[in-house]
Amino acid sequence: MIFMMKLIATQRLHGGRYRPLKSLSCVPRQDRRQQRRSVTAAIAASLLIAGMLPAAAMPRADNLPQADGQRTSWTDLLHIAKTQARHPARPLARPTPPQVLPETATTSKQVITVREGETLLTALARGGVSRPDAFRAVNALKPIFDPRRLATGQQIKVRFDSAPPASTTPPRNAPKDALRFTGFTFRPEATRDIQVGLTSSGKFTAVASDRELTSRPQYVTGQIDDSLYNAAQAVKMPVSVLAKMIRIFSFDVDFQREVRRGDGFEVLYHQAFDVNGAAVPITEIVFASMTLSKTPRPYYRYTPASGVTDYFDRRGQSVKKTLMRTPVDGARLSSGFGRRKHPILGYTKLHRGADFAAPTGTPIMAAGDGVIVSLGRNGHYGKYIQIRHNSTYSTAYAHMSAYRRGLKRGSRVRQGQTIGYVGSTGRSTGPHLHYEVLVNGKQRNPLGLKLPSGEQLRGKDLANFKLIRDEIDRQRNSLQPKPAIAQQ
Ligand SMILES: [Zn+2]
Repeated sequence: MIFMMKLIATQRLHGGRYRPLKSLSCVPRQDRRQQRRSVTAAIAASLLIAGMLPAAAMPRADNLPQADGQRTSWTDLLHIAKTQARHPARPLARPTPPQVLPETATTSKQVITVREGETLLTALARGGVSRPDAFRAVNALKPIFDPRRLATGQQIKVRFDSAPPASTTPPRNAPKDALRFTGFTFRPEATRDIQVGLTSSGKFTAVASDRELTSRPQYVTGQIDDSLYNAAQAVKMPVSVLAKMIRIFSFDVDFQREVRRGDGFEVLYHQAFDVNGAAVPITEIVFASMTLSKTPRPYYRYTPASGVTDYFDRRGQSVKKTLMRTPVDGARLSSGFGRRKHPILGYTKLHRGADFAAPTGTPIMAAGDGVIVSLGRNGHYGKYIQIRHNSTYSTAYAHMSAYRRGLKRGSRVRQGQTIGYVGSTGRSTGPHLHYEVLVNGKQRNPLGLKLPSGEQLRGKDLANFKLIRDEIDRQRNSLQPKPAIAQQ
């Protein structure tokens, strides 16, 4: 399929970074006025469609680019016409690169997945490519992609043909009509494809192409029956969106103890699609609400004048707290309800911390910005880290299987940064994170603790936020299923 894609000369539109909806702006000048009207209509239509269509099968989100730091916001949707004016279409005025030989009936392809410690050369060799051919192909790639940036797990589609120009080498001991290596394709970023292939002159050439993406709002609501993860799967919410939702609520919610059967969630997010309508694993949450014990906690995405995108409650208070309540990926927590076999101890007078039961190797995050004041074996705690956040608060993490490489006493850490991995070292009955919050040096129950809250929007920011909040609410209202009217 990738070989069939239309290859355009390399032109990194808008600096090559995907920005939701802005790809809509790449239209010829004369069409713009008409486009402005139709874009508005298209947005309205897509919102309606998104509410009615089940979300398409979503790709796994294991290697997701982080949406953090992107400065586009819901305002783009509101002011898309302006955006268009700022991004006039640019003609593709590049010299045409040498054409890669077209596929034939005998073309065969094989997908190889780059293993840990492998280089592109060794990966290609493992895929049956002769050393000299692999070497020439990788050299052709170098001007547009540094092969050392190849990620473990990257898939590479290797192509073989029966009658390529005589310049390539058949594998040793191969029959005369054996297939020969003629190139490969891979997708180093969700928005970029790279093809390396033979030309008619028998040389390898490399071409990069940007994928035109569009963004459409998607709306999901779910009810938690046995676990949050299963509930998200049931409504086809992509894993990347679930991970982002959990991240938003990790400041506020103890995912081990506070999420119960009957709780629910509601998420409005942007999903990127390629020209074929296939979902691309780029997502951005616009609105997320979790209803825990019948109390909804809605949060709205907003970028204040400071430029740092965040999520705010209805009154403009940031979801971010000094410390996180769940300093581990909430989706990987063993269900805190229904099954009660795992080592849930919770907080008691004797056990002064909160336990999060998760598989060994689950990353543990620093609950807040701070400095590591203790790192090492610590009796029953096993592998242990303590972080000092300010003159009042410290946090401690125990039973780890490993520390993140490079960390030591005195290291500075950022909130959300991985500091180690869940394990079962010390006195522990199974893999879990033992998490303590220390207030003025004393262990305090993190569940009952009122943690210092984050930024409060004021003045112009607050006024702008309210406009966007109300717009999002209107969208949600239009997307919510209306059973009473739906039958008519
Ligand atoms: Zn514990």
